[in-house]
Amino acid sequence: MENEKQPFFYDITLRDGNQALTKPWNTQEKAVIFKYLLKLGVQAIEIGFPGSSEMDFEACQYLASITPENVVAAGLARTVQKDIDKAAEAIKTAAKPRIHTFLALSDFHMKYVLQKDPQDLRKMAIDAVKHAKSLMNDKGDVQFSVEHFGDCKDNIGFVIDTLQEIVEAGATTINLPNTVERTRPFEFTSLVRQVYEALPKHVTIAVHCHDDLGMATATTVESYFAGARQLECSLNGLGERAGNTNLYEAAVALYNNGVNVPLNLHKIYETAMIVSEMSHIPIPIQAPLIGPDALAHRSGIHQDGAAKTKGMKKGAYRPIQPSLIGRDDDEKLAFTSQSGKTAVYEIISKAGYPISMQEAIRITPKIKEIAEQVGELPTRNIIDIYFKEIFKVKGAFNLIEFVKVRDSRYRLKFSYHSKEYNIEVAADGPLEACLSALKKAGFEQKLLHYEQKAIDEQIKGVSADAMTVIHLMAPNGENIICRGIDQSTAKANVKAIFNGLNLIEELKNKGK
Ligand SMILES: [Zn+2]
Repeated sequence: MENEKQPFFYDITLRDGNQALTKPWNTQEKAVIFKYLLKLGVQAIEIGFPGSSEMDFEACQYLASITPENVVAAGLARTVQKDIDKAAEAIKTAAKPRIHTFLALSDFHMKYVLQKDPQDLRKMAIDAVKHAKSLMNDKGDVQFSVEHFGDCKDNIGFVIDTLQEIVEAGATTINLPNTVERTRPFEFTSLVRQVYEALPKHVTIAVHCHDDLGMATATTVESYFAGARQLECSLNGLGERAGNTNLYEAAVALYNNGVNVPLNLHKIYETAMIVSEMSHIPIPIQAPLIGPDALAHRSGIHQDGAAKTKGMKKGAYRPIQPSLIGRDDDEKLAFTSQSGKTAVYEIISKAGYPISMQEAIRITPKIKEIAEQVGELPTRNIIDIYFKEIFKVKGAFNLIEFVKVRDSRYRLKFSYHSKEYNIEVAADGPLEACLSALKKAGFEQKLLHYEQKAIDEQIKGVSADAMTVIHLMAPNGENIICRGIDQSTAKANVKAIFNGLNLIEELKNKGK
């Protein structure tokens, strides 16, 4: 069965999430989170448990007073009159107040924890809902939760009968919590479906899943397709023990599966960061979507796929476009010994330095060698290696001096192995002079391409004004790209050529 209704996001960060914090938020802190919830665009916010403490009562009063007209402000209450009265008092200024009352109806909980007869508890729940409804009048509404619904497989008939009466008593939202996650998502959603099918269609079915076994998101998402429209989630998955369903995961999972999700998804990342800061709970490195590594690629195969599908709606190794949730860090390619040329190319290009794939292939083994010793390499180290390997290619050729002696006359001093050469030539320009001096010394080079690049001021660490890119032809016909940088264009040219000479020599030594 498909759920044709738009999901209704009911956020529980300020109640379930807050009560699980080692130091619960005060009113001002709750108000900060509240504003982020409004920016995300959730449809309902459980603002607190007014009966739990004076501090929470006051926080609820304040938040209710600033709740926009289109957002439901809910207060939690046990099925006892004084709690319900407190909740009603705290939320009365909201345009859409909701009393959320709850009682466990599982055999286990009724017998061992509440230690009461099921029929008495049933009456208690019905009376509580009637009382809450009388306080809400037409302005607000009433939500009832079957605490420990996930444990109600054996007495589901009793639960459904009770819920039918609770609906008659005035509850319009029936919440089915997986208070402690013990069962398979499929078993839980089968129970949700039974309730959905048994109750009148004007009733909204909600689910509230805890993440004890790490399946809360799965259970919530599947419950939506089983008829639950209201999804109770929290920011960063905050909540008792292992937490509640993470709102970001549930929302994006539904979005990715074609559901019209009524949230400002691009606010997710920003919200996650502030919630982490304010709860003092760090985001795990591999947390889905929001973790620092959630969009990082380390293995060569993954990096290659990521680079080839960068910018596409569907990525080879990512679930979403980072911008969907407001992340501006594009897919991060980190370099480890498992990485390859694509990562080298992407990391260096992204840092603003010019590099060709041919050069990336050439320097990758050197970078890998270091990564094998030290583990993951920061970009800075990769750039250092890049400078060393691209601009200061070591080898048999060693440039000693290149000067313009007078008009159209140049002198090139260099060594090849230990032999020194000092050659003077006449030429129209430095590039021609250098090539002609080399030819005279017996090292003729074929220039395939020459390019002068202005150096972008944004390129950090380059204290040079000129960059030359030269393509030389190696004896085996290969096109060798070499670069030189210097304050002067003339020297940049010559340095590029000498880098090229050493690269060609290296090729020869390898027998290529
Ligand atoms: Zn809960």
